[in-house]
Amino acid sequence: MDIDHNDIRILGALKMDAKTLGDIKDRTGINSEELENILGILESSKLITSTAGTGLFGQSKIFIKITENGSGIIDEYVEFLHTKWEEIINFAAAGEREKLDQFMIDNPFLVKNMIFFKVIDLPLLGRLNLRFLLEGKNLCYQCKKELGRFTQKFSIKDCNKFGFKIPSGMTVEDNLCASCFDNLANNI
Ligand SMILES: [Zn+2]
Repeated sequence: MDIDHNDIRILGALKMDAKTLGDIKDRTGINSEELENILGILESSKLITSTAGTGLFGQSKIFIKITENGSGIIDEYVEFLHTKWEEIINFAAAGEREKLDQFMIDNPFLVKNMIFFKVIDLPLLGRLNLRFLLEGKNLCYQCKKELGRFTQKFSIKDCNKFGFKIPSGMTVEDNLCASCFDNLANNI
């Protein structure tokens, strides 16, 4: 599926129950500037619509809704997550730990998105001894180098603090290694 990680999470949040910018921000952790950017693109692609309304205290507020097309994309994506989950289960059942690790490196968002879209949940991962898929290896978001316990790590917060451009698709749960973070500094 060739759709951006953040696009899919925003559409997903809208399909679940988000209605305002604040709701989407809470659910996805995407910062306002990027969020407004993406919402603009999603609206011109007719995947969402927005209307101006009035909030609880009479203030003007934008309400956002997913369209039928947008909703279809999410249905398809959830279907896709189910097939990927089957693959994970098959690797795990066959004891193919190396293939599983490689799969997770190639698809860094997959398990997080499975939880986000409620394809699986944490207790299920626990029962199957697969919690390491989420917590096990902490890899640099950009170069996939392993980040050890004592390695310096940089989050979206650090990027914002220094005014660096956040790599596309990076979430609040992701980290960068020092050299990838330094590279961002060179790209301002
Ligand atoms: Zn890195």
